[in-house]
Amino acid sequence: MELRNCPVCGKLFVYTVRNLCPECAKKDEENFEKVRQYLYDVPQATLEEIAEKNRRSRKECSGIFKRRPAYAEKEQPEHSEL
Ligand SMILES: [Zn+2]
Repeated sequence: MELRNCPVCGKLFVYTVRNLCPECAKKDEENFEKVRQYLYDVPQATLEEIAEKNRRSRKECSGIFKRRPAYAEKEQPEHSEL
């Protein structure tokens, strides 16, 4: 049994397959659907945009962003707002 701190909320949880506590894993699934849909519409979206459009923190989106499927596979450089 491996205890880890959830990277999102910082809570201690038992690590299984996902590096998220059960609460955040559930939220992540919900977020993932929204972000997945957004990435489907805008495959070139950056992490910044996704976070903003979906009203999520970059931290919340980054996990989803990394898991984004092949249609949005291309690495996007993080851009700063000008
Ligand atoms: Zn958590």
